[in-house]
Amino acid sequence: MKIRVFDLTKILSVFLLAAACSMTTCAEGTLPPKNIILFIGDGMGVSQISAAKIVKGRLNLEQFDVSGLLTTHSSNSLVTDSAAAGTALATGYKTNNGVISLLPEGTRLKTIVEYAIEKNKATGIVVSSSITHATPATFLAHTGSRKNHSEIAEQIAQSDVDVLFGGGWGYFIPQNIAGSLRSDNKDLLAEIKVSRQVIQTEQEFLNLSSVDSVVGLFAAKHLKEAKFRQLSLAQLTAKAIHILAAKSESKNNKGFFLMIEGSQIDWAGHQNDEAYLLSEMLDFDAAVGVGLDYARESQQTLLIVTSDHETGGFTIHNGSLNNKRISSSSFASTRHTAVMVPVFAYGPGSSLFSGIHDNTSIGQNIIQYINHSH
Ligand SMILES: [Zn+2]
Repeated sequence: MKIRVFDLTKILSVFLLAAACSMTTCAEGTLPPKNIILFIGDGMGVSQISAAKIVKGRLNLEQFDVSGLLTTHSSNSLVTDSAAAGTALATGYKTNNGVISLLPEGTRLKTIVEYAIEKNKATGIVVSSSITHATPATFLAHTGSRKNHSEIAEQIAQSDVDVLFGGGWGYFIPQNIAGSLRSDNKDLLAEIKVSRQVIQTEQEFLNLSSVDSVVGLFAAKHLKEAKFRQLSLAQLTAKAIHILAAKSESKNNKGFFLMIEGSQIDWAGHQNDEAYLLSEMLDFDAAVGVGLDYARESQQTLLIVTSDHETGGFTIHNGSLNNKRISSSSFASTRHTAVMVPVFAYGPGSSLFSGIHDNTSIGQNIIQYINHSH
């Protein structure tokens, strides 16, 4: 297949450099952020956040100083899936539902992770699904269908990402080994082990001390639900930030890009399961809190929290703030919806994320910041 790299810099640099740099240097008196942490709550709409706030009281999300809304439609559908929305967030371009970081006609789209690696930044991806699932795949791979898990795993094995935490080791081991989800004899974990440490248990994660780069795959497919999971998204996030910050400091001080996904908020929406939804939202918000603590300390870190789409048409009819309880709620659907999703930003460069924009603006803004960082 002949592939052509669609280079956002060349197309958008004049316009966006003016916008981004004037906003960062004039409005806030700072340079483009050194580190960028992007949190994606898969399937997280305003109602999901409202529900989490009712049961928790105060969310970490409320500490963000900038907020806005994003339209989420894909190239071929008013209602997006996670592949098309992930592509918009990861590359700044729209594509068709199901497609992973290619344009609808097949042109390869360069991802935030690829731009960051080119700029010698450390990079990481942390998810509670299989690492080959649609959202992380849009940051790590290029393929015509989100269902190509084996191919996505091969591309992930070949990538230079420093930290990967999630599930999906079944896609990385040969078919003759128990738990394999492959239909060939490729041993991708062996390939990864040549250059990076590989861990597969909670204990190995807790024992992890000073590593330069690590691939942690803690389930054959997806991680367990938050309430049954041994490792919270907050623990995974804290370790990823620690490793990436240390790597950046010891190497070249170019900073890092990290994407963290609360993958299962979406699945709770599909299942119309409010209890599952709330536990996933609180797991996600705790991870956001870890990001905020680091951003406050570093002062050179831009945090962005957003979603790919809303799932379930969730709404709240009644409850009690005093009792922190929802007494009546409902889902209008078991599928994704077309409503706009929220975006929150904190730190240097956050002002670009205020107002109503398309979801492609997230990828475009982050790529511009990475390309103009020093
Ligand atoms: Zn979904």
